[in-house]
Amino acid sequence: MKNINGGTGTVCLIGNPIAHSFSPFIHNYGFDLHNINTVYLAHLVEDDSTLEQAVYGMKALNYLGCNVTYPFKTSVIPFLDELSEDAKLIGAVNTIHNRNGKLIGYNTDGLGFVEGLKNKGFNLNYKNVCILGAGGAARSIIVALLRSFNCNITICNRDVDKALEISDSLSWNNSFLGKIHRCITPSQLAMEKDLDVLINCTPIGMKPNDDCIPFSEQLSLNESMLVCDLIYHPYETKLLKDAKAIGCEIHYGLDMLIFQAILAFKIWTDKELPYNNVENLLMKKIY
Ligand code: NAP
Repeated sequence: MKNINGGTGTVCLIGNPIAHSFSPFIHNYGFDLHNINTVYLAHLVEDDSTLEQAVYGMKALNYLGCNVTYPFKTSVIPFLDELSEDAKLIGAVNTIHNRNGKLIGYNTDGLGFVEGLKNKGFNLNYKNVCILGAGGAARSIIVALLRSFNCNITICNRDVDKALEISDSLSWNNSFLGKIHRCITPSQLAMEKDLDVLINCTPIGMKPNDDCIPFSEQLSLNESMLVCDLIYHPYETKLLKDAKAIGCEIHYGLDMLIFQAILAFKIWTDKELPYNNVENLLMKKIY
């Protein structure tokens, strides 16, 4: 238990549900490591009707900041003073910094995924990348990939209009290195022959449905692919197991969880959370 006193600062998580979150564990480890007199708490916010009060309460009580999770990543935006460029493009915020009374919204999800890839030595320049899913996580990853790599992205979603909406809303941006090539439905996936990288941004394969593979009828893996999953429960999804078995390189969802936290911690404290330590702690805690 921390040595809480009159000078202890606060950071929190707001969302619903939040009881399962590993963020308090990760960030309290970081505050202890750096001897920062700050505590990270999880605050359940019932629904949108109390979100405004929660955010202004956090500001009034001079919290250093917070993480925002489901279902408030978009609905929190009207209560913030400023947004980072990425948060604007993504239309969602997962990290808020209270900088001298101004609430600034960031999105570290997609960049966390990309930092995880880079940390493992993967470079997606000139790669054909297929994103499965077109929800919030897919969108944040697409923005981060377009910014970081000269890659060609195909978005595959059962509701193709959602994929097209992402594509249309980002296509005007000429600061990106990469581009969105096309949007397809799962039935068209079987025709995609030149994919180098596959990223599962759907919840298919998550516990307790861990015997499922996204779009298994249409998906064909080959050994030269890099296959990534955002799911970290189980650690190794069936998609990753099958990919590994045929010789693909694979990338685990846990890395995104770790790196989005590393980036948020840096925003609040300007200090580093050490990846290896956090990974070891989470491996023991989660699995
Ligand atoms: P979301 O906004 O609800 O989007 C879910 C996407 O998955 C949608 O495109 C949806 O397709 C698709 N989908 C859902 N169920 C499906 C099914 N049965 N068959 C086909 N497609 C299906 O969720 P999200 O926030 O993007 O999160 C997606 C996944 O990423 C979750 O598993 C989440 O746990 C994981 N995630 C991991 C991290 C991490 O740190 N590792 C961070 C964020 C998210 P439609 O549009 O057609 O409905």
